[in-house]
Amino acid sequence: VTRPPYSRGLHEVGDGLFAYLQPDGGWGWSNAGLVSGDGASLLVDTLFDLRLTREMLDAMRPITDARPLDALLNTHANGDHCWGNELVPDTTRIYASAAAAEEMRELTPAMLHMLVQADLEPDVTAFARHAFGAFRFDDVELRLPTDTFTDRLSLTVGGRSVEVIEVGPAHTAGDTIAHVPDAGVAFTGDVLFVEGTPIMWAGPVSRWLAACDVVCDLGAETLVPGHGPVCGIEGARAVQSYLRHVRDEATERFEGGMGALEAAFDVDLGEFADLRDAERVVVNVATIYRELDPGAEPPSPVELFAGMGRYRRERLA
Ligand SMILES: [Zn+2]
Repeated sequence: VTRPPYSRGLHEVGDGLFAYLQPDGGWGWSNAGLVSGDGASLLVDTLFDLRLTREMLDAMRPITDARPLDALLNTHANGDHCWGNELVPDTTRIYASAAAAEEMRELTPAMLHMLVQADLEPDVTAFARHAFGAFRFDDVELRLPTDTFTDRLSLTVGGRSVEVIEVGPAHTAGDTIAHVPDAGVAFTGDVLFVEGTPIMWAGPVSRWLAACDVVCDLGAETLVPGHGPVCGIEGARAVQSYLRHVRDEATERFEGGMGALEAAFDVDLGEFADLRDAERVVVNVATIYRELDPGAEPPSPVELFAGMGRYRRERLA
């Protein structure tokens, strides 16, 4: 199996199958995919803003001119996978799991724009600008999915079969993966972060571990992750190792009576300390704590951003 280089742009990963990669895969720098069949194509995810999505659709034009886009799958609700939706042709069916479609209504482009622009608590503002400052949100109008499903969805794209499997809640409330069996390729969305720290907004952690098993059991040789370079199942195993490590470290501190934020700073990341965006441990520990103590008041998104800002300032500066 040959894997494309990790360079910005469109790469063929199978017959009529393409990955659109955006190194370095950190905050907001997501990957997307294109499945083309006889006279039609399916886009897997749009990008974080209109400029980036336009650039991607232009790069895909040599393929989509002959095999036009008639369907789009959003793998989950995070903006870096759906905030370019308004740029696909009006007639495009937009698919997402029902849970993802619901979650898309929660955090709007206008809210993220405000978070980057406003002067809030210094750690929040520093973090928001670090993570989201490279993108433009004030002109984004989110186009929501036209077709939702639960569990499984079988699509036919110009005669090719694409199996979409709901594996969330895991990274978010409604994660899905798309498998193209005739090519041995799967687009995993943010079930896989490669060479970067996974971030668990939703959990439970057991469900994300199981999602990685689903990915491995597809038998696909080529996996296009939501962030990072194209990989094989070793990419899914690495996500599992990280999640198990943080789960065990967090659980130990929970049982010792430590608070979630203190625990996040106390966790020894060990071999995972050098992964990009290590501050995500703050969110991961908070999500694991919510699972261990469902009655406790969970931290707000702004508190989590403040925690990650402080982590970067104290640990990663
Ligand atoms: Zn993402």
